[in-house]
Amino acid sequence: MKTSFNKNQIRMGSIYGIPLTFDFSWFLVLFFITWILAGSYFPNEYKGWSKIYYWAVGAATAFFFFLSVLLHEIGHSIAAKKYNYKVKKVKLFIFGGISEIPEEPKNPKEEFVISVAGPAVTFLLALIFYGLAFLTKNNVHLYALFHYLGLINLLLGIFNILPGFPLDGGRILRAIIWHKKKDFDKATQITAGIGRVFGFIVISIGFFEIMAGYFIDGVWLSFIGWFLESAAFAQLQKEKISKYFEGHTVEEAMSKSYGLVPADTTISEFIQNDILIRHRRAFIVEDKGKNIGLLTIHDIKKIPQDKWETATVTDVMKPLNEVKIVDINYPLEEALKEMNLDGVNQMPVMEENKIVGMLNRESILSFLSNINEKK
Ligand SMILES: [Zn+2]
Repeated sequence: MKTSFNKNQIRMGSIYGIPLTFDFSWFLVLFFITWILAGSYFPNEYKGWSKIYYWAVGAATAFFFFLSVLLHEIGHSIAAKKYNYKVKKVKLFIFGGISEIPEEPKNPKEEFVISVAGPAVTFLLALIFYGLAFLTKNNVHLYALFHYLGLINLLLGIFNILPGFPLDGGRILRAIIWHKKKDFDKATQITAGIGRVFGFIVISIGFFEIMAGYFIDGVWLSFIGWFLESAAFAQLQKEKISKYFEGHTVEEAMSKSYGLVPADTTISEFIQNDILIRHRRAFIVEDKGKNIGLLTIHDIKKIPQDKWETATVTDVMKPLNEVKIVDINYPLEEALKEMNLDGVNQMPVMEENKIVGMLNRESILSFLSNINEKK
C-alpha cells in the first residue's frame, strides 16, 4: 500500500536490511492502549493493586503489544525476502503494521507462504505468552502482563486470518483460489469483494456499539472497518486500471514534447528560460547532439543558491547510464510496475539509442483519458 504522509514517520533502524518506520499516530495508539489497560481493564480484572502498578503493567503490556505487531510484520518480510521480493519497509501506523512489498506476488505458493508467515508468528507469540503466564501464576503482575499478551495475540491472529482482502486471510484465500483456478485477477476480485463485505460488517458492529453507549470502542471499530473496506476497494480499482494498460506499449503513453537543455547551461539560465517558461518537470541534457543526462527540478536543490550563476546543469543532472531507461516497444503495464517499484516519476524512452520521449504521470493520465474517450 502506498501512503503519502512520510513527514509523520520516524525511521527506527532496520532488521535484515528492512527499514523500520513508525508513524506518529502509533504513539497515540500506545498511549490509548496503556490508558485503557491501566484505567479500566486491569483494575476490573485484578482488584487491589496500587495505582502505580496498574500504570506500570499497562505501559509494559502496551510495549510488548507493539513488539508483537512488529514481529508479525517481520515474519511477512523475512518470508518475502527469502523469495527475493524487495521489501521497501515495515511500517507501524494507527491501524497496526504493514510490510510494504511493491511487487505483486509471482505465484500462489509464494503468496501463500508470505501471507501465512505473519499470523504464524502471532499465534506462536500467543502460545509463548500463555506459557509464560502459566509459569508466573504466583506473581500476579507478571501473570496479568503475559495473560493479556497471550489473549491479544490470539485475537489478533484470528482477526488477521479472516478470509477477506487486505487481511492476511484474504491473501491466503487468494493464493488458494489462484492455485485452483489459475487466474490471479479472478482470485483478487473475489477476495477483495469479501474484504469489502467484512469492512462493512466491522463498520456496522462499530455503529451498534456507539448506539449501545460504548462510544470509544465503537468509533475505533468503525475506523478499522472503514480502513479495511477502502483498502479492498482500492485493490479492485487497481485491478481495473491495470486492465486498461494491457496490450499497450510505452510508445502510446509517452510524451514526445520533453525539454532539451544544452550541457553548458547554468542553473540560473535553466531556471529562467526552461522551468519558468516551459513548465516542465524533467529535461534531457544534451552535449554536441548526444543525450548525456536526465535533469529534474529536484536536482537543482543539490546546489546552494549562491552557486546557481556558475554551476551548470551537467553538475546536477543524473548521468543517463545511472537512469532507468525504457524501450519504446516495451509493454506499458511492465514499465509502470517498474516505475512503481523504483519510486521514479519519469522514465526517458529510448528508440535505437536515442531518447525519443518521456514516460511520466501526466503522459500516462492523458493516455488514459484518450482511451476512455474512444470507448
Ligand atoms: Zn499480516
